[in-house]
Amino acid sequence: MKITNSYPNSHLSKIDLYGGVLCLDFVNTVQNRTKDPLVNYLDSPEDWIAWLVRVNLISLPATLKAEKIQIPTLLKNRENIYHLITSVINSRPIQASLWARINAGMQEALSKVVLTNVNDKILSQWSFDPSNPMNYRYPVFKSLYELLLSENLHRVKSCEGCGWLFQDTSKNNSRKWCDMRYCGSQDKSKRYYRRKTKRHDAPGK
Ligand SMILES: [Zn+2]
Repeated sequence: MKITNSYPNSHLSKIDLYGGVLCLDFVNTVQNRTKDPLVNYLDSPEDWIAWLVRVNLISLPATLKAEKIQIPTLLKNRENIYHLITSVINSRPIQASLWARINAGMQEALSKVVLTNVNDKILSQWSFDPSNPMNYRYPVFKSLYELLLSENLHRVKSCEGCGWLFQDTSKNNSRKWCDMRYCGSQDKSKRYYRRKTKRHDAPGK
């Protein structure tokens, strides 16, 4: 199927990429992690294609076998990655069964990496069928592999406002929110409101 537009009606065609790392942006394809039930933005083949375009894994127009897209598989991958990362950053035990699922995805992904060279520059390239949209999970798993082994792992945090995951690139590693303008300002106004209410409730006032 020749796809020429990135499904502008999908939330994922314009979703904010605050994760800073591909696998974190993948787990952030929900509205908010702190609310129950979870509002899932990755709900249809169009959403997956819209996200792939958003994160520049695909550029349009492209010929894609959209019928290959299995949303339940993508969601399982996404939630496994989310549980693994949140367990790691919160120092919670990680079940062997979770590692098994993650490693299965990672091994498949890394088996698609080939090295080559252009003159004296070594390049890492992908050797998967680019027309199968499911194959773009491989770059996501590779980014997870790199993140888990990276010194920046301790900079991965969960937003205090919405629970999205992000890599804190601030100098003193002090960022608390996915985005200061959104979750940060909401938090500030909540605290301001609490302070105001407290003052107004204080005896004698
Ligand atoms: Zn947030």
